[in-house]
Amino acid sequence: MKEEIKAYDSVLELIGNTPLVKLKKITQNMKGNYFAKVEAFNPGHSTKDRIALYIIEQAEKKGILKPGDTIIETTSGNTGFSLAMVSIIKGYECILAVSSKSSPDKIDMLKTMGAKVYVCPAHVSADDPRSYYEVAKRLHNEVKGSVYINQYFNDLNIEAHYYTTGPEIWEQTTGKITHLVACSGTGGTISGTARFLKEQNPNIKVIGIDAYGSVLQKYHQTKEFDKDEIYPYRIEGLGKNLIPTATDFDIIDKFEKVTDESSAHSARELAKTEGLFVGYTSGAAMQGLKQLEEEGEFTEDSNIVVIFPDHGSRYMSKIYNDKWMNDQGFFDAETAEIQTIEYI
Ligand code: PMP
Repeated sequence: MKEEIKAYDSVLELIGNTPLVKLKKITQNMKGNYFAKVEAFNPGHSTKDRIALYIIEQAEKKGILKPGDTIIETTSGNTGFSLAMVSIIKGYECILAVSSKSSPDKIDMLKTMGAKVYVCPAHVSADDPRSYYEVAKRLHNEVKGSVYINQYFNDLNIEAHYYTTGPEIWEQTTGKITHLVACSGTGGTISGTARFLKEQNPNIKVIGIDAYGSVLQKYHQTKEFDKDEIYPYRIEGLGKNLIPTATDFDIIDKFEKVTDESSAHSARELAKTEGLFVGYTSGAAMQGLKQLEEEGEFTEDSNIVVIFPDHGSRYMSKIYNDKWMNDQGFFDAETAEIQTIEYI
């Protein structure tokens, strides 16, 4: 009798069920037990595979999407990659409006995955006609048979994590999780994951990581939109210059802000200590953990789960490039880390 060939039907079957990895060396002087949910293990190398698949399949179920239709989105890169990947397998066109802050590698990857990419200026307000939000809206109106994913204002973004990331973490920690720490961009990851986890145990503390230059923390504290909080920063995918409805502020206990520089160094440290080659926001999340620990947030018994959203390969021309780090002023002259490579 012939043995069955063990193969996945497509890469889409590999989405989700990402591993939880202990963080040991980098946390050795920190109170508590630390576990990273490493989302780079998704086939598109980021947590955004989950929402791309979920939102597209919900639209199919509702009969909104038909073969050959077009998927449109604004994206810092990861969501675009995931949507392009799912579109290829399922036979949709994919149009993406991205921010000029996105790394050139990311933009090239989107094109490689068959997407049509519009690069829009990063430092204009959200309602400026040149902003990637406005460009996507215009394209949605112009292209017949198009679906606008609108991840910042789509409840399905939260639902995707409610049905996948949350239950996975609950199961992986056998319910022993005490803290969830996650970056907040659209807010979908933290809100959906937290909603599921708090339904199981309302005592789990949920902490969002925000960037200096973003309005999220201040809005959470005051419920007021303070545009004076907004200024340009380097980390991509974290923090916001508007209030997304995909963020459930009531379920988040607090926000911790991190800097571009400390987040970049924390990402590099994760590679050197844990062998984890992860993205800039994973460095931001790690930096957030360090600050929270210093502020006395954790005890020896805390079981802290931190979500690392994507893979390091997407940042080779940024935080993993010594010249870029130096150009940002992230290396100080005394401890210059720039290493020379010796060719024999
Ligand atoms: N990290 C990266 C690299 C991202 O692209 C995003 C998405 N903007 C996030 C973190 C934040 O995730 P979410 O949008 O679910 O809040």
